[in-house]
Amino acid sequence: MIQITMPLNFLGSVYREIRQALVDMAEMFDLLEQPAEVTDKPDAPDLEINGGAVELDQVEFGYEAARPILHGVSIRAGAGETIAIVGPSGSGKSTIGRLLFRFYDVTGGAIRIDGQDLRDVTQNSLHRAIGVVPQDTVLFNDSIRYNIAYGKEGATFAEIEAVAKAARIHDFVSSLPEGYDTQVGERGLKLSGGEKQRVGIARTLLKNPPILLLDEATSALDTETERDIQQSLKAMGVGRTVITIAHRLSTIADADRIVVLEDGVVREEGRHDELLALGGKYAAMWARQAAEEDDDGEAEANAVA
Ligand code: ATP
Repeated sequence: MIQITMPLNFLGSVYREIRQALVDMAEMFDLLEQPAEVTDKPDAPDLEINGGAVELDQVEFGYEAARPILHGVSIRAGAGETIAIVGPSGSGKSTIGRLLFRFYDVTGGAIRIDGQDLRDVTQNSLHRAIGVVPQDTVLFNDSIRYNIAYGKEGATFAEIEAVAKAARIHDFVSSLPEGYDTQVGERGLKLSGGEKQRVGIARTLLKNPPILLLDEATSALDTETERDIQQSLKAMGVGRTVITIAHRLSTIADADRIVVLEDGVVREEGRHDELLALGGKYAAMWARQAAEEDDDGEAEANAVA
């Protein structure tokens, strides 16, 4: 569990930026304990965004040389496209997210954003370009206003309110006696999983990144909350390149492309309907999940009866 209690406001914007990137990544990938293994090249330029196209080109990677994890993975997300990566546990989905942040360098092939190899640009500019909405947003022990404003230095209240509305958290916040000044976190108001995630969405909206990496919620949100969150996420994805690491297939059926990863290899790729028609791994996963959801529904109905 990450706990950040130090008052850090005074440490200046560079540190703040690094910390933001670390918090984003730590939230998503539980990475605080991992060493940073990569450094900027001398005189590396900033990443220049021109639409935000992401390309994994024959990527090879293993955390240890003796155990390769990704084997020649090629995935392309054109500017503004939504790509979903699905696959069994351990297939390498989160690893792709980590590589996209350049937490590690690929051992073969390349990852490029708008044609620029991640190894050639500054990590700061890379981290600025990618917004993460993790499953479990970490809140600071501070006000809701601070927690949202964290997405952008010097954000005005009007901006904070606008993104809170877009993330569908504004009405809830307004209903609290202290509104945006309500203290949250360990020592303040405990927010539900869905509320926390919406604060995370608002924060990311404020950051306004051209590329979004979504670790799709698997946490126990009720169906209605989940639907709301999905709508907020979808609205957030408009005009951005979105890469979703998906655990539930129902939420990614309208992705521009779905990539099925298994044992670090892309096994299938296509739109939902194409993959269903193919009758392969995705179709089997879809059938299995539908059956499980039916079972859950029956179990709930039985419990109520
Ligand atoms: P899940 O759906 O369960 O989150 P995933 O598809 O995201 O799984 P990854 O987290 O990418 O899978 O893991 C792929 C493989 O890499 C796994 O075999 C895992 O054990 C291994 N792995 C992940 N992180 C590390 C690490 N820090 N060091 C060594 N091996 C790791």
